[in-house]
Amino acid sequence: MIILGAPGAGKGTQSDWLLQKYSIETIVVGQLLRNEIVKGTKLGQFAEKKMKAGELLADDIVLDLVKPEVERLKDKDWILDGFPRKASQAVLLDKLLSNDKESLNFVASLRVPDEVILKRIEERFIHLPSGRTYNLSFNPPKVAGKDDVTDEPLSQRPDDNATTFAARLKSFHEENEPLLAHYEGAVLKFEGRSSKEIWPKLEKAIEERFPNLKRR
Ligand code: AMP
Repeated sequence: MIILGAPGAGKGTQSDWLLQKYSIETIVVGQLLRNEIVKGTKLGQFAEKKMKAGELLADDIVLDLVKPEVERLKDKDWILDGFPRKASQAVLLDKLLSNDKESLNFVASLRVPDEVILKRIEERFIHLPSGRTYNLSFNPPKVAGKDDVTDEPLSQRPDDNATTFAARLKSFHEENEPLLAHYEGAVLKFEGRSSKEIWPKLEKAIEERFPNLKRR
């Protein structure tokens, strides 16, 4: 399954909820990159610059991260969050899956108004090492500024500021239509102003499409 949508549309939240309910795995491309930043690798340093500028990394760089993950999970059910982000990446994913004789059988597109997303982003905090994400309004940490599990400090993502975010949203709107067109009739659209509003619709569609999907 792939989950598409603007930055801040709640792809990570919906993926987390699916992960809690069903026996599936997630591949979170942004988190793979943030792991590299935490480790301080060359790729991490490069990724941090691109993220701060609100720019996407080149397709081949991202593919190099996604490919081993898809191969590792080849006998499992998985959700890919954050890839593809544009039509050229969708072509690469098709090729990757055809090599492995895998198939994509669910394409979800989350639709949340821009003004809702902008507010959400300003209130988003993350525990960088784990990727656990909090929102000050609807999912605050138990202790302000601290991760619930490790008690370590939370931070804002380098790319969650108003200037960078405007660039990310602009690039999303430019890339999204051709990306959706790539998947044509296969895209299921889920609309709402909050993740809680979208969740039951997504859950219902998943239940209908995969009645035998194992629950946790
Ligand atoms: P995310 O956590 O999914 O919002 O991703 C954070 C940042 O990582 C993006 O703003 C990009 O700079 C980079 N990134 C994530 N996924 C991709 C992708 N598929 N292609 C290029 N860059 C990406």
